[in-house]
Amino acid sequence: MQTANTALVVFSGGQDSTTCLAWALANFDHVETIGFDYGQRHSVELECRRNVLAQLRQQYPGWDAKLGPDATLTLDVFRQLGETALTHDVEIAMTASGLPSTFVPGRNLVFLTLAGAQAYRRGLKHLVTGVCETDFSGYPDCRDDTMKALQVALNLGMESRLVIHTPLMWLTKAKTWTLARDLGGQPLVDLILEHTHTCYKGERGTRHPWGHGCGHCPACELRAAGYAQYLTDDLTGDLANE
Ligand code: ZN
Repeated sequence: MQTANTALVVFSGGQDSTTCLAWALANFDHVETIGFDYGQRHSVELECRRNVLAQLRQQYPGWDAKLGPDATLTLDVFRQLGETALTHDVEIAMTASGLPSTFVPGRNLVFLTLAGAQAYRRGLKHLVTGVCETDFSGYPDCRDDTMKALQVALNLGMESRLVIHTPLMWLTKAKTWTLARDLGGQPLVDLILEHTHTCYKGERGTRHPWGHGCGHCPACELRAAGYAQYLTDDLTGDLANE
């Protein structure tokens, strides 16, 4: 039995999924989270995940009251399937397929399927994920059509009425910052800057204006450019007109 107005957020501890979690907390009465330990090269991601949840609970008592249990599933199958730059120490580069070596084939399909199973088990109606088509990587498992097909497949396969939400699907990285500010004000922007993790190399030593990271991997470059654009939009008044 699915309860209306309840949601499960696929939450990794990064900028995008933290913004999605805030979005879900603003839109649903009860929100749970799920994350995956899939043999990421760097466990820093899982550590950030815990910190972000703790900070959200501490800084937003209203959201704390809505936030239910968190589940972390271990999925070492991706390491068994083969090498990618996210699971092994290999160079981050373009491959012959036209996709970067950070692409883990099937990852989001498996994540969403397991999230669907968890939502089913927990009686949660809505699934929220931070996938985005405007992302530089062009991962095919982040596409809107993929998500819509998955929603149909999950509902057929489990005889359920899950709804998959992708609040960031058509947003640029700059607009994702704007959404965070709209949802939780400057404190949420600051929380995301300080506590979320995006860097592919797992570095957190240096604190840049846009957050922690190595500063030169594709994920850091994207985050830095998005934040810079957000600040520019803010200065030029683009945000005020929305
Ligand atoms: Zn980096």
